[in-house]
Amino acid sequence: MTLAKRMSRLGTESAFEILARAKALEAEGKSIINLGIGAPDFRTPANVVEAGKKALDDGYHFYTPAKGLPEVRAAVAEDVKRRRGVAIDPDCVQIVPGGKPTMFFAILMFGEEGTEILYPNPGFPIYESMIEFSGAKAVPIELLEEKGFQFDPEEVLAKINPRTRLIIVNTPANPTGGVIGREALDVLVAGLERHPQVTILADEIYSRLVYEGAEHVSLLAYPSIRDRLILLDGWSKTFSMTGWRLGWGLWPKHLIAQAERLQINSNSCASAAVQVAGMEALRGPQHAVDEMLAAFDQRRLRIVRELNDLPGFSCVMPQGAFYAFPNITGTGMTSRELQDMLLAEAGVATVAGTAFGARGEGYLRFSYASSLENILEAIARVRSALQPA
Ligand code: PLP
Repeated sequence: MTLAKRMSRLGTESAFEILARAKALEAEGKSIINLGIGAPDFRTPANVVEAGKKALDDGYHFYTPAKGLPEVRAAVAEDVKRRRGVAIDPDCVQIVPGGKPTMFFAILMFGEEGTEILYPNPGFPIYESMIEFSGAKAVPIELLEEKGFQFDPEEVLAKINPRTRLIIVNTPANPTGGVIGREALDVLVAGLERHPQVTILADEIYSRLVYEGAEHVSLLAYPSIRDRLILLDGWSKTFSMTGWRLGWGLWPKHLIAQAERLQINSNSCASAAVQVAGMEALRGPQHAVDEMLAAFDQRRLRIVRELNDLPGFSCVMPQGAFYAFPNITGTGMTSRELQDMLLAEAGVATVAGTAFGARGEGYLRFSYASSLENILEAIARVRSALQPA
């Protein structure tokens, strides 16, 4: 049996592997606190669950148009207008099963041998994995801890050359919790105006998870790049719907037919009943999102305080998403060593920074999408593991 060469270039998302290891340890009777996986710990809002159930009762059992039900695409366009202040054409919206397919399609559309794609490192691991799978060269964008894990836009622009086809910008970011400010985006966009061959993929899946003092600036706010901007967002994080698998992409007019073709060749469409539930999430009451955000904020302030108090740790305050990304170089261990030690000896699942790229060495990701009680217990266990009695 001979596998296609590209299979050897495909990476993975270690958070899923750690989840499996944590579950296996639990099955052996070990007590595990999972701060590894990036999934909110809240139930999906009840009105959304009801809408999904009703949709099944109402006969939403069949294929929908590949781009999604027109009324769901219209609901996305309304939501974009409400939250990002920009009127968009619902015909350029594609509903997909999760955030990942938009990323997958964009990278497959532009990546091939002899081309380059810029992506954040440390960053969501699927970017690098998919870029390499496509055959393109993965060119890392460095995120600077001292700048709250923002990039230096001039440094990013200096990496662009005639082979550059796509640049991926993620704000708010996984795994760092960093939010890219307006100033940096202004400089980046002004520079991109000199490189019209570069398409931009803005992964804004955490757009509503931003805390006081920070603002989410969408790349959609910049008219000069709108005709080459692919915007990725979805329901997973905002509405605690990771297992429903629902997301959307906004594509430039000249690319939407290509995106639709990739959808037809892979998923056909997102689940019909799930799309109806997603429409309720956007159009229905929003208090569940506000409550979730308030709970994340409280945990964020607490976990960062606690992490900074651990020997060998220092943690900048994340401004978005639900991750803390402490620098752990003071422990004398590598990220992987510390991750493995904490899982085996403390029963705390975290993710090594290197799971998010080589530039994640020296960091560990803690997801605070878990109860305050769990977080405090996890920190106490980490403290004991670091300072054995
Ligand atoms: N983009 C980022 C930055 C993420 O962190 C994630 C999930 O962790 C995704 C996209 C994918 O989201 P989904 O689970 O909806 O595919």
